[in-house]
Amino acid sequence: MAAETPVPGASGAGTVLVTGATGYVGGHLVARLLSEGHRTRVTVREPGRDTEVLALVRQAGADREDLLEFAVADLSADTGWAAAVDGVSHVLHVASPFPVTPPENEDELILPARDGALRVISAARTAGVRRVVMTSSFAAVGYTVKPDARYSEEDWTDPDTEGLPAYHKSKVLAERAAWDFVEANGGIELAVVNPVGIFGPVLGPRLAASTNIVRSMLTGRMPVVPLMYFGVVDVRDVVDLHLRAMLHPKAAGERFLAVGGPSISFLGMAEVLRAHLPAAADALPSSELTVEEMREAAKTEPALRDAAGLGGRVPVISNAKARSVLDWEPRDVTRTVLDTADSLIGLGLVTPVGKP
Ligand code: NAP
Repeated sequence: MAAETPVPGASGAGTVLVTGATGYVGGHLVARLLSEGHRTRVTVREPGRDTEVLALVRQAGADREDLLEFAVADLSADTGWAAAVDGVSHVLHVASPFPVTPPENEDELILPARDGALRVISAARTAGVRRVVMTSSFAAVGYTVKPDARYSEEDWTDPDTEGLPAYHKSKVLAERAAWDFVEANGGIELAVVNPVGIFGPVLGPRLAASTNIVRSMLTGRMPVVPLMYFGVVDVRDVVDLHLRAMLHPKAAGERFLAVGGPSISFLGMAEVLRAHLPAAADALPSSELTVEEMREAAKTEPALRDAAGLGGRVPVISNAKARSVLDWEPRDVTRTVLDTADSLIGLGLVTPVGKP
């Protein structure tokens, strides 16, 4: 991984706690913190998962493993959080369930996301942590359809929106609960990052729901795609924005949309891949379902309900706030999509359909 330019003021933090370090964003985030010389503690759900985190941060190019500490805590239980936040100056709360396939019961996502965020923030406040940066999502911002489809940090997804997927509901309820807690109790700063779809280099075989889409396209498992436009942001830029939100005085009390550029469709993403990876051309999707076809298919396929409910809208998602307040400069979306593909191929994670 190329070295990133250090965020100004990076020396202003003591020990930083990262939740969700076994995941895609968390792995990149820990690697960046270590590379910038931050003492970094991470929570894992079960003891013995240190090697998983180490494999991710090594793949991301981190070289200061001596600065890394481990704690054990699960979002679904109180145990371990007081110890995890002890002596910490900042918490980057990244963990939240983000399964590839939706669960039967939405509470499987909502309870750990919402109650887990409250566990983390409440323990952090009690321990005197200065600031928590929470990874929310565009799912908490822009999934209630607006006539002009323009979205900024002022917008909130209505959790009662018909057909809202459980994951989106979990993110909006968790972020709301976090803001309400801080407003009601004071004593700690909160900043929130709201990324759109996160892509960019993968670090290991366990893929996030986002990067799994690129693998499905490259392996021919997604021959037809839903008509759906979405924002793309690079995981390295999401990490950069978390660090800025952690350290910048003006970030306290604010949410920041993380989006790299104009929205892209699934088919548009396939076209970017096709133009640069001719060897994968036959596997890549070349047609998309119409809105009517999606509505019909969504009756039996829950994974399509999101796209069907949006009816082909092209969201215009602003990154003006992160740029102007935090001097954030995201990468080009095309580069991000191609770096995702290159990393999947480089790690041997793209096996054509029909092969083991
Ligand atoms: P990921 O690779 O699936 O990672 C999720 C992380 O959350 C893992 O470390 C997982 O730990 C942890 N986690 C899940 N349930 C937990 C629980 N009950 N207790 C403790 N930890 C738990 O997903 P990601 O893409 O890195 O997502 C990170 C954050 O970014 C999430 O908050 C997600 O909502 C947000 N986000 C992601 C995207 C995207 O496109 N990827 C877009 C917007 C926002 P285990 O390894 O133990 O399962």
